[in-house]
Amino acid sequence: MVKITHKNIDIFVKAHFNNLKDKLKEFPNSCKYSLEEVITAEPKKLHEIAEWAEGRKEEYKFMIGKYKNFTAKKKEYNAYDLASKLQVNVCPYCNINSTFTIENGTRPEFDHFYDKASYPILSLSFYNLIPSCHICNSSLKGDKNFSLKTHIHPYIDSFDEVAKFSLKLKNSSFYHSIEGFYIELETTDKRAKSIIEVFKLEDRYQKHRDIILELIQKKFVYDSSYLDKLLTKYEGTLFKNREDLQRVISGGYIDSNEIGKRPLSKLIKDILEDYYNIKYKLIVDLNIGKPNQNKKIKKKPSNNSKSHPRNFWKNNLKA
Ligand SMILES: [Zn+2]
Repeated sequence: MVKITHKNIDIFVKAHFNNLKDKLKEFPNSCKYSLEEVITAEPKKLHEIAEWAEGRKEEYKFMIGKYKNFTAKKKEYNAYDLASKLQVNVCPYCNINSTFTIENGTRPEFDHFYDKASYPILSLSFYNLIPSCHICNSSLKGDKNFSLKTHIHPYIDSFDEVAKFSLKLKNSSFYHSIEGFYIELETTDKRAKSIIEVFKLEDRYQKHRDIILELIQKKFVYDSSYLDKLLTKYEGTLFKNREDLQRVISGGYIDSNEIGKRPLSKLIKDILEDYYNIKYKLIVDLNIGKPNQNKKIKKKPSNNSKSHPRNFWKNNLKA
């Protein structure tokens, strides 16, 4: 879901190989690829090796045992070391759960993008080890086999560019109840669609509608003139600029490059971007601001004051 980036990634890959090579001395000479090629293979090369290794499970089964050693808490180089270098603090598959590493405490699980039972040769390949949360790795993916052809790969693909969250309004209670809307996650990319299905992303995100309800409510409270006032008062001291202020109010990182920093940031970013669409949907779905459309609002607003949320939306729709 969120692309994994790190400026030192090439150094980590090299160090990963150097730390493992002495423990993999029984790697067979008969292999078409050198041990270094297998451990450091970039995602496209992983696919090539996986195709070559099809039907060669037995020969490389020992690599699964080596992976188990790697995940054990030992003094030598292990999964904790790799996880703390990578600092992937939010699961890249779901962007819901934290995956912090705390030494000798907790770390992300490592999902094998190419399943290790089917492709044991790739058990310790750097780009086949995707730091991820327990729900994504163990509860949902399990031993399902991913491939570059069928699923997007968090080290090379940006889910953010091909899939977007949007808000679908169900009724006029949307600004005070989560029953008034649902969250849709749309994509035309087949490989992203597979990720959404495997990790049950659309269903899981419905459980976070409370965050979006708060966002809608904040949109009401922090209207444009109030934001201007806050900026006049605090720009350069509390907030860097308008975007920074929006980040504080929304509770998420809303820059594409930063959505991996905090859970649910992709959702918050997309819904904020969808704000103008929300306005449009309000016109169509709730008949606010346009007369002579099929009315879906059962009751007329009893409060005509400007501060009534419905009037707030109505006024904003004219903007
Ligand atoms: Zn996850």
